[in-house]
Amino acid sequence: MSPTLIVGNWKMNLGVRESYDLARQIAPACEGLQKTSVWVAPSCLSVPAVAKVFRDSAVEVGSQNVHWEDRGAYTGEISPTQLREVGGSFALVGHSERRSVCDESIELCARRALGAIRAGIKVIFCIGETRGQRESGQTEQTLTAQLLPFLANVQPSHQPAVIVAYEPVWAIGTGLVASEVEIEESHALIASLCQRYLGDSTTPILYGGSVSPANFEDILRCRGVHGVLVGGASLSATKLTELIAISEGHG
Ligand code: PEP
Repeated sequence: MSPTLIVGNWKMNLGVRESYDLARQIAPACEGLQKTSVWVAPSCLSVPAVAKVFRDSAVEVGSQNVHWEDRGAYTGEISPTQLREVGGSFALVGHSERRSVCDESIELCARRALGAIRAGIKVIFCIGETRGQRESGQTEQTLTAQLLPFLANVQPSHQPAVIVAYEPVWAIGTGLVASEVEIEESHALIASLCQRYLGDSTTPILYGGSVSPANFEDILRCRGVHGVLVGGASLSATKLTELIAISEGHG
């Protein structure tokens, strides 16, 4: 069985020194894990410092966004090669805060993800419906529309670099968690799309949205959940350590 993947998204919450300190605090809990992989995504300026802490460990460090080109006139962007050069191995793409606050379109997110994967960066491709979309019965349509421009264009040889995160927008940072049925239905849909377009049923599918030590066990029990993308709780060494312990004790 593949290890449960716990990914911490630190967003724009910590400075470089704070990110380094948090990485040092969680490092001991990340050693010798049997059932869990831990990845962290600090803000990009902190990636080198955090990657240094985890240099000799299994913890992977990544960025919260990435560009599709390796270099060029793209002011303000981070290239996949630059990310790799400072110790990053993966990137989040399409996080709902990028889609809503920064107006990133479905096509732009797909382009970012495809370019990064071509350049050797693993991608956690985030999708999710708003409360309004769920209430109007548009969840399936929304998730499919967000995922297809990416999935349908992944080269077969790049399939192992694909991870999908299902993050209902209404559950991110709100304390609301999707129900077991909502999680299982969405994960089943994503799994069927991965099977159809990648010809693969092993693509890891993460759940994200107010994951905490209090609800993690229930989330892990949902069919089709291979791990979690964690925002708020990943900023606390205590909570992240608890999540790791729960994962290690699960199953
Ligand atoms: C996120 O931002 O990806 C996230 C899931 O945040 P939180 O855990 O705080 O809801």
